[in-house]
Amino acid sequence: MPEVRYERKLKEMETAFEHLFEFNPNMVAMLDKFGQFLRTNEAVTATLGYSGEEMKSRKFSDYVPEPFLPEAMKHFLLLQEGERQIFETAVLHKEGYRLDLNASIIPVKIDNAVSGYIAICEDITQRKRTEQRIWHMAYYDDLTGLPNRRSFSEHLQKKIDDGIPHGVMLSVFFVDIDRFKLINESLGHDYGDMLLLQAAERFTRCVTEKDLIAHTDGDKFILCLTNLTTADSVHEAASNIADVLLEPFSMGQYPVHITASVGVAVFTAEIADAGSLMKCADIALSRAKDFGRNNYQIYNSDMTLESMNRLTLSSELRTALSENQFYLEYQPQMDIASGALVGMEALVRWKHPERGIVSPKDFIPVAEETGFILSIGEWVLGEACRANKAWQDAGLPHIPVSVNLSMRQFLQQDLKQRITSALQESGLAPEYLELEVTESMTMDVDHATRLLMELKELGLKISIDDFGTGYSSLSYLKMFPIDKLKIDQSFVRDMMLDPNDAAIVSTIISMTRHMNLKVIAEGVETEDQLGFLRQNRCSEIQGYWFSPPLKTDQMRQLLERHCRSNNTQT
Ligand code: C2E
Ligand code: MG
Ligand code: MG
Repeated sequence: MPEVRYERKLKEMETAFEHLFEFNPNMVAMLDKFGQFLRTNEAVTATLGYSGEEMKSRKFSDYVPEPFLPEAMKHFLLLQEGERQIFETAVLHKEGYRLDLNASIIPVKIDNAVSGYIAICEDITQRKRTEQRIWHMAYYDDLTGLPNRRSFSEHLQKKIDDGIPHGVMLSVFFVDIDRFKLINESLGHDYGDMLLLQAAERFTRCVTEKDLIAHTDGDKFILCLTNLTTADSVHEAASNIADVLLEPFSMGQYPVHITASVGVAVFTAEIADAGSLMKCADIALSRAKDFGRNNYQIYNSDMTLESMNRLTLSSELRTALSENQFYLEYQPQMDIASGALVGMEALVRWKHPERGIVSPKDFIPVAEETGFILSIGEWVLGEACRANKAWQDAGLPHIPVSVNLSMRQFLQQDLKQRITSALQESGLAPEYLELEVTESMTMDVDHATRLLMELKELGLKISIDDFGTGYSSLSYLKMFPIDKLKIDQSFVRDMMLDPNDAAIVSTIISMTRHMNLKVIAEGVETEDQLGFLRQNRCSEIQGYWFSPPLKTDQMRQLLERHCRSNNTQT
């Protein structure tokens, strides 16, 4: 009786095992002690394409692809010693493609000796692919297919950890396409993307297999060159990288010319990890942009101090407006022939609670970078209009006030609306407002022409500031509805010493006569300079010779004096 019960129990167990084996959704296989298949279940056939018969007496290793074999064999050795193994591996489908498996293999022991194995394997191909896709997304840039910043940084750190060969100046180059935003805005994002793809291809030509390249946020590329050995070669590489953009890009039917700014950092004992190298290259890049773009700068430690200053400035700028720390000064402009006061330029000043007066040359670029210039610019515009209107209402002479526009303001969609509001709120007649734009703002000729036309319709005046220092094509200049050119003070400063500057100044003046434009020379400090300008028939001057920028009260006094002298003349 117990024997019958025992046999029945055995039978039950056997059936249970059969069911577990055959109907298991995972692949289950029995192998002998040499790793040859004895039996496989339906799931194996369904997954690998081989029937049980086909696999019988074949070794598991026949199905494992080459790169996974050494690892699989290591596990097999441990199995032979009786240790259960769980590991990830791969097998080949009958049609040749790879499947990823999670294998759990148990040695079957009889009398303490391993007589075979039971393998239970899960097909994890789908999960692996998803993981890889996520990994790819985390390490590669979608648009260009180049590695991204994270990937670059990890590979750079690995290069450093592996040791840099003696004599090599490991150098990181941050490249930023100048005014890429303008291309996106004027030609559209599809063209912008097309340009980035072409640029990526050109930058890729600058690197070898040992170097690194990445595309990061928008229009930035990073390169790491590992074959430079002298300071000269670092300079040369930086200029070569910028030069790959010289050749115009073809965007549909238009050739587009672009330039880049490059910041470089070289591995040293102080800049000795990927993070610092990239940070320093980025600081050098900001410096290159400050230098008017289209140039490269190699990082030095002074730049950190400078960038710290900028960081504090930018956070302090945030509160400056609400705490009324800005005020305007007005620099009078004089008509050379009559000596009359004919205009004034509003110049913003920042009275910092600890630092005292901060020069606009120091804070305007920071404000431009952070976008804060928009609120400052709007305040300046409103304040200049208000002050001028108040003087006019007090019976003082009616002369235009000129206001400097920044690049960001110029790109602002509703600039016209904002200017209209400033005029309406102050009650100033539009002919008493002049806007100063710089040559660099007119690079996108279509946008500039359209916007300037719209602004002109309001009835105000427009002048080109710092003329001669930027890119300007005379043929475009003709198309812009401008009233006046302001000759940059750098030419005026040296024109009595340097015949080239003298020639530039007199050429600009005679050009404006032919184009029916007014011309004003900036930065006039001496009687000699005034004499030269008068001789060349320049119409107006602005500069210390006539007057430095004046506080509101002083400007009012000047207007009053001017008013009195006018009255006594008439
Ligand atoms: P800018 O528009 O070319 O202004 C003329 C600059 O030359 C002023 O410098 C003025 O103080 C200075 N200057 C005037 N006469 C002489 C002279 O005889 N000799 C010399 N050496 N310099 C003279 P400032 O006030 O430091 O402004 C510098 C620049 O900051 C301005 O150049 C302008 O580009 C910018 N800026 C000033 N105010 C504003 C503003 O409200 N908005 C914007 N976006 N930029 C502004
Ligand atoms: Mg100006
Ligand atoms: Mg100027």
